[in-house]
Amino acid sequence: MQLLFVRPEIKAPSGLPMRSILTSYLIGKNFEKHESSLHTSPIATILCSDSKQSMYCQMLCALLQRKEVVCVGSVFGSTLVQAIRFFEDYWKELCSNIRRGQLSACISDTGCINSLSMILNKPNPELADLIEDICNAKSWEGIIKKLWPGTKCIDAIVTGSMAQYIPMLEFYCGGLPLVSKYYASSEGLLGINLKPLSKPCDTCYTLVPNMAYFEFLPVHENNEEERSKKEVIEVVDLVNVKLGQCYELVVTTFIGLYRYKVGDILKVTGYHNNAPQFQFVRRKDAFLSIDSEKTAEDELAEGILQAKLFVGQFQLQLVDYTSAVDISLIPGHCTLFWELKMEGSSKSPELSPSIIEECCYIVEQSLNFVYRASRMGNSIGPLEIRMVKHGTFDALIDFSVSKGSSVSQYKTPRCIKLEEALKILNSRVVGRYFSQQLPGYKKLNK
Ligand code: AMP
Repeated sequence: MQLLFVRPEIKAPSGLPMRSILTSYLIGKNFEKHESSLHTSPIATILCSDSKQSMYCQMLCALLQRKEVVCVGSVFGSTLVQAIRFFEDYWKELCSNIRRGQLSACISDTGCINSLSMILNKPNPELADLIEDICNAKSWEGIIKKLWPGTKCIDAIVTGSMAQYIPMLEFYCGGLPLVSKYYASSEGLLGINLKPLSKPCDTCYTLVPNMAYFEFLPVHENNEEERSKKEVIEVVDLVNVKLGQCYELVVTTFIGLYRYKVGDILKVTGYHNNAPQFQFVRRKDAFLSIDSEKTAEDELAEGILQAKLFVGQFQLQLVDYTSAVDISLIPGHCTLFWELKMEGSSKSPELSPSIIEECCYIVEQSLNFVYRASRMGNSIGPLEIRMVKHGTFDALIDFSVSKGSSVSQYKTPRCIKLEEALKILNSRVVGRYFSQQLPGYKKLNK
């Protein structure tokens, strides 16, 4: 069971067609001929351009063929979490389709209708009862293993910014290993994980040296400004990277990208023969910036992780988050948009303000020295958490997809600047909470 999605082709101003790498792969003859028959999703459901209909039909097909499933996956872990959220909303309707042997009238895509007619061709009340029993259980812990009992692993990337979905996936997967097989981008296949069963935190990727010409820009953490001031460009070749050092990846590819910065920061963790192995550290551009202060994605992610552990004690789960800078008040401040839910239920929880205010403080404590010093000096205001209602991050995906982004390659932006996206978030805010304490200097030596 691989949940895969295409996105429509768009045209560049020059008239040349543009599409994502995954779409190119999925619409190619090779996929149809050699791969598609290995999946529970018929090709027509993957190629359906309406992502909701596509998701619905792919889920339905996977439920109907539940005994054949040996692996559950998607490209990124976020898509799998999104699929579980979708299933929370639609499992009753899916069961009713299975019970009656009839597809819902809301599916209008002819490709989907035709391919489903081959699989959903007779009523199956026993299967519908079984799935209903599983879904009606008090907790959804381990539900993937219950729905697809032959599953041996979860195949989805959960490193880098996807790491935040690990706790949620672990909850739903019932102890199945989470496998991040490769490190890839539209620019090319960059690395493969030679130890797929390693823990997500230990996962490293071996760069495949003949996939592109790889070069590396050393990243002096916390010293980016310094580097640009001195204008020193010290590009390092693949054979000269140093163990423990972080680099920004630069590729020259067969399709014609010349010294193109992929935008990822990687850390050298070892070698396979002579090929370096890397851990994914973060995206380079993921910065929240107020005045001269810059908050990197990994710092924010660390703070969010601590806050997640804190709310976990109250059976609260963070569905997703993003951030923005609010300069409508003086001084400006960081705003986090949070969607929370009660563990094992899709309902929006009742929140005690003191818990969320404490979360604001926990996140601030993880941010860098400049941030905390600016808070002490009042040039940055208290961090704010805006609680958004159930389904907000799905609405954000719908918006991105409507703008041409691909469901399979979608990654929740961790910092939002686009006015329209901010409107979507702000129109769904149900509560606003501010940090009540000044972050101290406890972590000054970090
Ligand atoms: P795209 O441009 O949509 O093809 O996305 C490529 C980007 O996804 C990469 O540059 C990374 O930032 C991210 N990515 C891809 N593979 C991984 C991975 N295994 N771990 C973490 N991030 C990844």
